[in-house]
Amino acid sequence: MTRVSDSIRIVLVGTTHPGNIGATARAMKVMGLERLVLVSPECYPSGEATAMASSADDVLARALVVDDFMDAIAGCGLVLGTTARLRSLPQPLLDPRAAAERVVAEAGSHEVALVFGREKSGLNNEEVRHCNWLVNIPTSEQYSSLNLAQAVQILAYELHLAAIGGGPGETVPPDWEPQPPERLEFFFERLEVALREIDFLNPAQPRRLMQRLRRLYLRARPDENELNILNGIVSAMLETARERSEEKD
Ligand code: SAH
Repeated sequence: MTRVSDSIRIVLVGTTHPGNIGATARAMKVMGLERLVLVSPECYPSGEATAMASSADDVLARALVVDDFMDAIAGCGLVLGTTARLRSLPQPLLDPRAAAERVVAEAGSHEVALVFGREKSGLNNEEVRHCNWLVNIPTSEQYSSLNLAQAVQILAYELHLAAIGGGPGETVPPDWEPQPPERLEFFFERLEVALREIDFLNPAQPRRLMQRLRRLYLRARPDENELNILNGIVSAMLETARERSEEKD
């Protein structure tokens, strides 16, 4: 039988302290999670990581190390980014409980990534813009930044509770397959070109148009058919713009 944890990956981006990587492996294993992905860790493998992992050294040994953030989230139908601070162009925000319920509801049908940022600077804007939702652990207003592995522990605990809580209250339609980041990225890149071609997007004054459109489509979570339609619209825009400019010449 497949377990929800089989399709959940914990992604640590640019971790500085190897001890945090080991402590994350332990935080995961005690809650039944096993798939750890490390994006460009500063110091790994490391004796300190192994020591902090304790009996979760098997999770550590199986961790996947990648250079590129897109490789870490490739194929994921749901990407949640965790953040200690709220952003200027806010994305929809979940608390850990709501996030865990959503993950457990969807993990049976597609791959899910839970992404954690750097100790000093968290996730950058480029990484955040691939997330369907951001997750914030409510804290004191005076100090909102948890230790990385402790943040992982809280999310892993909520996932465990949601998973053993008799399954999801919410289920996803059986034929719904949200598109992974790499396919959305292809659409976003062409959309930007097309919007420029039809003079809707002025590169001199972008007014965060692409960021807002990304947010819209990430919230809508198009399936394959819907994304095909959107890509078709972009192709028609590009074609029309090309014909128009040929007529002018
Ligand atoms: N100064 C950084 C803090 C990074 S803490 C910042 O402003 O983002 C390292 C990581 O731990 C964060 O990127 C996030 O993944 C996680 N984390 C820490 N505190 C959190 C909180 N209150 N809610 C959600 N994630 C948190």
